[in-house]
Amino acid sequence: MTTTAFLHLQPKIAQALTRVKLAHCAPPAFRPAADVEGVEPCPRCGSKLVFTVSAATGLSDGRCTAACGVRWAAQ
Ligand SMILES: [Zn+2]
Repeated sequence: MTTTAFLHLQPKIAQALTRVKLAHCAPPAFRPAADVEGVEPCPRCGSKLVFTVSAATGLSDGRCTAACGVRWAAQ
C-alpha cells in the first residue's frame, strides 16, 4: 500500500501528520534543526498525541496515548 493510499484511508492521521510537518519540517530543509519531541491533542479522540521528528532524516513518528488508532512511523 502506498503512503498516499494509507493517508487517504486515515484522514485523522494525515491531519495530525500534516500539522507536525508544517510546524517542524518547513522548506528549504524539510527537517528540524534539532530532534523534536512534542505533544498535541489527538485529532480523532482528543487525548494526548506524542510525536517525534528526527533532525537527521526529517521523518516523524507519532502515537496517540489512548491507542485510538492514530499512529504513524517514519513518515
Ligand atoms: Zn487518539
